[in-house]
Amino acid sequence: MVDEHLRVKDRKNVFAIGDITNIPEMKQGYIAEMHANVAMKNIKMMMSGGKKKKMLTYKPGSEMAIVSLGRKDSLAQFPFATVIGCLTGLIKSKDLFVGKTRKTRGLDPKRVQD
Ligand SMILES: Cc1cc2nc3c(=O)[nH]c(=O)nc-3n(C[C@H](O)[C@H](O)[C@H](O)COP(=O)(O)OP(=O)(O)OC[C@H]3O[C@@H](n4cnc5c(N)ncnc54)[C@H](O)[C@@H]3O)c2cc1C
Repeated sequence: MVDEHLRVKDRKNVFAIGDITNIPEMKQGYIAEMHANVAMKNIKMMMSGGKKKKMLTYKPGSEMAIVSLGRKDSLAQFPFATVIGCLTGLIKSKDLFVGKTRKTRGLDPKRVQD
């Protein structure tokens, strides 16, 4: 159980992120990354002696899920509609976000053997 700053209930300096939290939202990897960004900033803020009221608050956003159907197609669930086909396939199906994920970690998006 976590509070709005992602601290474990009744603990001031222990954080929890990802699927293990009790936040009422889908359990997804990209959402765990959003938790990580908030927890990381709050930990940094605490380490530099900042006050609790300056802590970032995590608010669940709109939810999305994409299931790849081969290299080209996918089924995508957006907040406003569920869509199937090659247009939604353009979002994820080519490399399953591997390139994007590598880029955010400072790695070459094209090399996969690192
Ligand atoms: C089939 C499937 C497909 C999915 N597809 C997507 C997708 O396309 N996009 C997306 O965003 N999300 C997807 N998800 C969800 C995503 O995988 C999870 O939301 C994400 O992995 C959660 O990350 P986490 O770090 O919170 O937990 P986890 O990734 O589950 O990591 C927890 C880790 O803790 C370890 N662990 C457990 N107990 C202990 C212990 N006692 N001691 C030490 N280690 C322990 C586990 O072995 C595991 O490695 C999918 C999930 C599944 C099951």
